[in-house]
Amino acid sequence: MPHTELREYGHEQVIFINNEEANLKAIIAIHDTTLGPALGGCRMWPYPTEAEAITDVLRLSRGMSYKAAAAGLNLGGGKAVIIGDSKKDKSEALFRAFGRAVEACGGRYITAEDVGTDVNDMEYAFMETGSVTGVDTSHGGSGDPSPFTALGVLQGMRAASEMVYGENSFKGRHVAIEGVGHVGGNLVKLLAEEGAHVTVCDIDQEKIDAAREAYPKLDVVGTDEIYDVAADIFAPCALGASINEKTVERLKCKIIAGAANNQLATDEIGLVVNRRGILYAPDYVINAGGLINVSVELEGYSRERALRLTRGIYYNTLKILRRAKDEGIPSNQAADRQAELRIRSIGRVRNAFSFFRRGRNGEGKPFSR
Ligand code: NAD
Repeated sequence: MPHTELREYGHEQVIFINNEEANLKAIIAIHDTTLGPALGGCRMWPYPTEAEAITDVLRLSRGMSYKAAAAGLNLGGGKAVIIGDSKKDKSEALFRAFGRAVEACGGRYITAEDVGTDVNDMEYAFMETGSVTGVDTSHGGSGDPSPFTALGVLQGMRAASEMVYGENSFKGRHVAIEGVGHVGGNLVKLLAEEGAHVTVCDIDQEKIDAAREAYPKLDVVGTDEIYDVAADIFAPCALGASINEKTVERLKCKIIAGAANNQLATDEIGLVVNRRGILYAPDYVINAGGLINVSVELEGYSRERALRLTRGIYYNTLKILRRAKDEGIPSNQAADRQAELRIRSIGRVRNAFSFFRRGRNGEGKPFSR
C-alpha cells in the first residue's frame, strides 16, 4: 500500500471492506471532517490493482474536502470506490453490503452516486443506511445534479468574464464546449438563452444531435479542432486533463471555465495557462453546483434553496479570481488557499469552548469539581 499518500494527503481514516458473500471489495476514504460529515460519491471501476483503487480514492476524497470547503458548505470530503465492473458485477447484495459499511461509519461518511453507480444502486444502499444522497425524488432525493452543475459553471464563467471583460453578459460572446453530455448539454441551453454564440464537439454524434435540437444555431467542430476555435471562453465538459502540454499552446481563448474535474493535466500546465494570459476558473469551484444540490438534501430538499446557493458560485469565483490577481498567484492556487483557510478557521471556531460544551463526562454540562 502506498502509505506515504495517507500522511501526504492528510486523511483521517481509510476503511477497507471485504464481503465475499456479496462479492464486495470496497474502500471508503474519509479525508477531513472538520467542517462536517465527509460527503462524496461511490465510484465502481474495474481497477487492475488494489493499489490503484487506493490511490484513486485517496485523491478523490481529498478533492471533495477542497470542493466542499471552497463552496462554503458544512461538509467534509470523502469518497468510496468499489472494485468491480459496473456492467457485470452489480447486485442487490453488493450494494446493500456497501450500505452496511457506510452505516458502520456512524454518519462520518455520506455516499452518493458517481462514475459506474446510479440511483438504483443507491436505493439498495439506502435500505441499509440513511447516509445516502442522490436517491430518487420519491425518497426526498434531489434527482439529476447536472442542471445545477451547469448553472454553477455558467455563474463561474460570468465571474471570469467580469474579471476579463469588465462585464458579465454573454451577449455576443463565443463559447467553445468540449463534450455535450449531461452538463455540457445543459450549458448549451443556458448559454443560448443568454445570447452567446456556441461551438461544440463530442465523440458521440447522438449528443451533438440532441444539443442541436435544443439550439439549432450551434456550430460543431471535430474533437481535436475544439482547441483551435477562436472563442472567448473554452469550457472543458468531457474528461479530465484536456488542458495538457499538447493542447495548451493552441488555445485562443481568454477564459477556461468548464465542468470537467482536474482539467489541468498538471500544476505546471496551470502556470503555462497563467503565463499565456488565459484566466482559469478553478474546476472544483465552478462545478460545485451538483454537490451543493445534494447537500441541500441533508437539511430537507428545497429546489429554490439549491438554486440560490448554486447562483452564489458567481461571488465565490469572483472572490477567488480577485485573490489570485491581488496575490499574483495562479487561480487554482488561490482556490486551494481559500479552501484550506476555511477548514482551518472554522475548525478553530468549532474547537473553541468545546471542552465546556461537551463536559468531562460527555453529558453536555460544563466540567466542575
Ligand atoms: P457525461 O458523460 O454525461 O458527458 C461527457 C460527454 O463528453 C459525453 O457526451 C461524451 O461523449 C463526451 N466526450 C468524452 N470524451 C470526449 C472527447 N475526447 N472529446 C469530446 N467529447 C468527449 O458527463 P457529465 O455528467 O456531463 O460530466 C462532464 C464532466 O463534468 C465530467 O468530467 C464530470 O466528472 C464533471 N462533473 C460532472 C458533474 C455532474 O453533475 N454531472 C458534477 C461535477 C463535475
